Parts: sequence; C-alpha cells; structure tokens
Amino acid sequence: MIDAATRLASVRDGIAAAARTAGRDPDSVTLVAVSKTRSAGEVEELIAAGQKIFGESRVQEAADKWSGLKAAHPDVTLHCIGRLQSNKADEAVQLFDVIHSLDRASLLDALVRAGERAGRYPAVYVQVNIGAEEQKGGVALAELPAFLDQVRASPLPLAGLMCIPPAGVEPSPYFALLAKLARRHDVTGLSMGMSGDYKAAVMLGATVVRVGTALFAD
Ligand SMILES: *Cc1c(COP(=O)(O)O)cnc(C)c1O
Repeated sequence: MIDAATRLASVRDGIAAAARTAGRDPDSVTLVAVSKTRSAGEVEELIAAGQKIFGESRVQEAADKWSGLKAAHPDVTLHCIGRLQSNKADEAVQLFDVIHSLDRASLLDALVRAGERAGRYPAVYVQVNIGAEEQKGGVALAELPAFLDQVRASPLPLAGLMCIPPAGVEPSPYFALLAKLARRHDVTGLSMGMSGDYKAAVMLGATVVRVGTALFAD
C-alpha cells in the first residue's frame, strides 16, 4: 500500500519537475490538497506528512470536518475551491483564508459585508469561465476587465485568476489563455491544474495547483 507521505512526495516531485522544465522555481508553485469527500483521518495523514494547505468545495462539509482539525493544527490554511452561495458568505469568511471561486458581483458584495462583520477579508481568485460553458461557474471573458476593477476597488485582496477547463479535452490551451489574461490584466496568481493535468498547468505558469485524487488512496 502506498501511504500519504509517498503520494505527497510524488505530487511534489511532479510539480518540481514541471517547474524546472519550464525554467521556473519549484517554490513558486503552491500545492493545495483538495480534501473534499475525504475524512478527517485521511487529512491527518497528509498533515503528518507535512502538507499545510487544504481545499474544500462545500461550506457545510468543510465546517463539520475542519472545526476539530483547525483547533488541532492552527497553522493549516483552508481554501474554498467550490461554487459559493452568497448566503454562505459569513460562514465562508470565518472558515476560509482564500477563496478560489469568486465569479459574480453579488458574491463579491456578500463577501465584503461578511468581511466587515468578521473583521477579516479572505484573499480571492476570480474564477474565469475559460471554456465559455453554459453550466459552469466563472466570469465570462467579456466581463472580466470590469469585474477585476470591482474586486480591486474592494477590501478583498486579489490573489489571481482561477479556471477549470472543459472536461474531456486537452486543457493546455485553456491554461495558456488564463495565463495570457493574467498578464494582460496585471494579475500575478494563477490557480489552475488538478490531478490529471497539474504538470501541464505548472509548465504554463500555474502558481497554485489544486490536487485531490492523486494525494489520497482510492
Ligand atoms: C475536486 C476539485 C479539484 C481536485 O480534483 P482532482 O482531480 O481530484 O485532483 C480541483 N479543483 C476543483 C475546483 C475541484 O472541484
């Protein structure tokens, strides 16, 4: 059986190799371990192996799982990577240090108000609907410049852009497009790449990869 430490080392090696191939410093890429659907016990194994940054998709699941974990491991940070409802903004601001799925003005407003109440503002990535897919979250390409202006005028620190490419097709063109948008709009962070494609994402400039499956046992 392959243990958590071995899986973590293998993903970190993959990130480092891809970074070096692209002439990048491996330390310029942050690994977010996506622990959605995983138990607190499985998370503990990764923390014991040295992982300190985790991502969750759902507010309720994260709140249930992480109340104990956060108390036991105060140096761990938690990222929200899933679609966020505005009525969960208060809970999200208490729970998450970084939000990767900011994709509309109504959610921005809700997070700003929640941040005022909580006295803390999470950093945000603006999710871009990079494949212009009907059902997918994310800001439309045409609306990105105006939305970035709104975020920059808010108290939430703008960390970067995030995307989830369309399923079942080669993701690299979408990663390249997100990187181009980030350059055009002077944004430094790029949250892109999951278990199946994080190496390609790193070669194309990802500063954050969100990896779940590859870090956990089946
Ligand atoms: C689940 C999820 C991931 C991780 O996906 P894996 O394929 O398990 O690595 C990354 N990003 C988002 C937004 C997700 O929902």
